[in-house]
Amino acid sequence: MTIRRRISPNHDARPEGGRIDMLVLHYTGMKTAAEAIDRLCDPAAKVSAHYVVDEDGTVWQLVEESRRAWHAGVSFWQGTRNVNSVSIGIEIVNPGHEWGYRTFPEAQMQALEGLARDLVRRHPIPPDRVVGHSDVAPLRKQDPGELFDWERLARNGIGLWPGAGAAAPPGISDAQAMLATIGYEAPATGSLDDETRHVLIAFQRHFRPRGIDGRLDDETGSRLAAVAREVGALRAGRSHP
Ligand SMILES: [Zn+2]
Repeated sequence: MTIRRRISPNHDARPEGGRIDMLVLHYTGMKTAAEAIDRLCDPAAKVSAHYVVDEDGTVWQLVEESRRAWHAGVSFWQGTRNVNSVSIGIEIVNPGHEWGYRTFPEAQMQALEGLARDLVRRHPIPPDRVVGHSDVAPLRKQDPGELFDWERLARNGIGLWPGAGAAAPPGISDAQAMLATIGYEAPATGSLDDETRHVLIAFQRHFRPRGIDGRLDDETGSRLAAVAREVGALRAGRSHP
């Protein structure tokens, strides 16, 4: 894969240790790729990403992987705050919900898969730590959104996509606990409050994209149970070396 370079000044040092064990996917949410790349390289904007994948499959690198790019903002996943410190950020060119959200083209998906496969091979990034921006900031973000094909990515060895095994749909308290197991910052209120609905919407965008209404219907519930079971097993495996 050919990787083209643009230099973004928007990065700083990763904290001590410099571990990289997460991958965060975004869409650019701007009208054109050029406009997005300009912004990601603009010192005044104070945002960046390590990579940008254009719709024609061109891959740009803006920030060295060893440096902390500024892509996720205020964020949380599996107990980690400031996800930027431990992650690689990829911006996928798409106008997004604001400017005409559209299907991610084949050439773009292939390029993204090549890049992401290489990243999860070179860094210790487990499947449950390949996430979307909306997963780590569900109250603020929608990207990369419900048109993004997470299932396809998982088939190619990137990220998590449990099979359609039967799992009993949980009640709301259990659902909140399952969201937390997966990695979301989910409240434990025992009720379907506003914040919980936002987290459920983020979950649906990623794991049940055909309906994103924030309701705990049976399909969402059993999907939630299936994902939580798989992530629980992965996380337990990591804590017992
Ligand atoms: Zn984003």
